[in-house]
Amino acid sequence: DLLPASGLQLVFCLLRYRPPRWVRIYQGGFVAVSLMALLVPGTDILVHTLFLWQAYTRPGLVAVLFLVIWFAANGNVEARTMSLGWALFLFTAVNDILLAQGLLQTPRLLTLGFAAILVSMAVSLANRFTRMYNHMDHEVRERTEELEATNRKLVDAARRDTLTGLLNRRGYLEVARAQRSGRPFVIIMGDIDRFKSINDVHGHACGDFVLRRTAELLSDQLRDVDTVARWGGEEFIFLLPETSLEGGRVLAEKLRTVLEDTRFSYEDKVLKLTITLGVAPSRGEKPDIEDCIEVADLALYEGKQCGRNQVVVSGEEALADSPEGLARPA
Ligand code: GH3
Ligand code: MG
Ligand code: MG
Repeated sequence: DLLPASGLQLVFCLLRYRPPRWVRIYQGGFVAVSLMALLVPGTDILVHTLFLWQAYTRPGLVAVLFLVIWFAANGNVEARTMSLGWALFLFTAVNDILLAQGLLQTPRLLTLGFAAILVSMAVSLANRFTRMYNHMDHEVRERTEELEATNRKLVDAARRDTLTGLLNRRGYLEVARAQRSGRPFVIIMGDIDRFKSINDVHGHACGDFVLRRTAELLSDQLRDVDTVARWGGEEFIFLLPETSLEGGRVLAEKLRTVLEDTRFSYEDKVLKLTITLGVAPSRGEKPDIEDCIEVADLALYEGKQCGRNQVVVSGEEALADSPEGLARPA
């Protein structure tokens, strides 16, 4: 007696359709009969009430039949497979009835009809699992892609400065280390002159505004291959690959003049500022980025000492003073 209950469950399950409440209650009826059969001693009651239970089963059968046909008509693949199985069953049943009445001389086919129902349900089930598996696979892949995208964003956020949107120190070093190819490059270190006074006179918000605008202005002067980053508070650092020292000096001079010529309008104020820059070339086959940065920083310091708003190229005097001296052992 549990068979109709589990049969219903299977059909609903295959249709991917949550059984409504009345089906649940109906199924409960079969479970109750099963319990009764187990608990009540003897078989008398069961034999005498069998017709009642057969009558109870009919509406369920008919309802499920219609449900499956309706789902099949609406494109449910499992329902279509099951309908095919049931149609075959119906065909064999009719065949056997006609056979029993002596109207046909064909072999008995009903066993094949039952087999058709079972096979159709098995095929539906297999289909259903395959679809579920594919769906899960797809979901997993989508989630993985989302996670990777989030991860990329996080990694990118860790390399960027929030105020200016430029790379930060860490991002710059990553780029610089990745770009070392043995080809000459130039590093420029720039520091805004007397920036503290802008904060002191006009307020920190104005200072932030000026920093953002400066970052934009400086970035706009670069080639695609160049890299700019915010090294610290009001310090900007540049990496110019495949560039000679003279090329670096020219760009640094351009950066300096652009800033010198710009007027920053903030609220009702108009501000001007200048920048001092130090330029350092890469040295040797495997140049050390940190060393090169340090040299650029020293050149910048020299520029600050000599009155600010200027470009200092590292080793320029040494080259100018004694070009042959460079080759001489110390
Ligand atoms: P110098 O010409 O010697 O470089 O003088 P300076 O005033 O620019 O240098 P100093 O290092 O004394 O001051 C830098 C100032 O930059 C101090 C600090 O308050 C300011 N600063 C650093 N980061 C930020 C920031 O994110 N926003 C603002 N508004 N100010 C900043
Ligand atoms: Mg400064
Ligand atoms: Mg500084």
